Amino acid sequence: MITNLPTQESLNNVALRTYFRAWNELIEIWLDFSLQFEGTLDVKPSIAKWHEEWREYLTEAQSDLQSICALIQQSMELALKARVCAISPFLLLLDTGIKLSANPKQIDFSELRTLDAVDLPGAVNTLTDSHVSDDFIEKYSSLRSLRNKMTHLGETSVSLDPDQVLRLAVSLYLSIWPNRNWLADRLEFAAQTRSAWLHDGKYTSTHMEVLQEWPIDIGFFTKGEFKRLFGQEKSKRRYLCHHCVDEGDTRYAGLEKPGCGTAYLDSKGAAVTCIMCGGTFAIERSKCTTCKGNVIGANGDDWSGRCHTCGNAYDEETD
Ligand SMILES: [Zn+2]
Ligand SMILES: [Zn+2]
Repeated sequence: MITNLPTQESLNNVALRTYFRAWNELIEIWLDFSLQFEGTLDVKPSIAKWHEEWREYLTEAQSDLQSICALIQQSMELALKARVCAISPFLLLLDTGIKLSANPKQIDFSELRTLDAVDLPGAVNTLTDSHVSDDFIEKYSSLRSLRNKMTHLGETSVSLDPDQVLRLAVSLYLSIWPNRNWLADRLEFAAQTRSAWLHDGKYTSTHMEVLQEWPIDIGFFTKGEFKRLFGQEKSKRRYLCHHCVDEGDTRYAGLEKPGCGTAYLDSKGAAVTCIMCGGTFAIERSKCTTCKGNVIGANGDDWSGRCHTCGNAYDEETD
């Protein structure tokens, strides 16, 4: 009997955790550079100003970029396995030469060989009705071949550009998880890391990490990517979600408040909905005493009277 069968959920969770680990490491390539050269999280001006240094830095960043690609590839492989597993975990053992024995014994699923990476897109498109596109298969295959070169030869002549890796990562996410919420996932899987274990909620927190990165992420997404990931125009005004900001505004956070907006005004202009926590909060239109904003919390909670643009309450002006 085979024990410890994987589930679609367990495989998908590891896939997402791996994906966002890659994302985190990818963004750090830019952040480490801009912090060192300009002492700022403002990535693009740092690169424009230190163009030569950036090029030299990227030569040394190749091995990191290769590891990041390997992580993304591993993540996609697990996500494809999750799709097959949704039909039956036993399909993952198809054509793997599993030995059948008349002697009953327990076999742990993890010790068995499963479908090869190269066969996974075909398995998904043959065995399931949640197909992957030709575009996805092409990108997946190029990542797989890159990973193979790195595994077998330790290096590759392919020169990786972080921008291209980011474009690839966004495109693959949209293909493999079209119905998921990127920012909610970013938060959920940032909470399942080594550094998250060390957060105390007072000086540092997972919300803090994600909100510090959020304005940088927005800068990287193209208009089209943003629209597809979040269902909103990139240029549309974003408001602060008081819940998420309060979770993220720890002692060490130093959040750029207006830039941390994760909430959108609904079409009636009566509430804002956050794309990170999913919360919807009633608002009223009145003038903020601190900034020019006029979208004020009116949800009947602790945040009533607080401005969704600058985050200040009415009475904070005189503090
Ligand atoms: Zn929120
Ligand atoms: Zn305000």
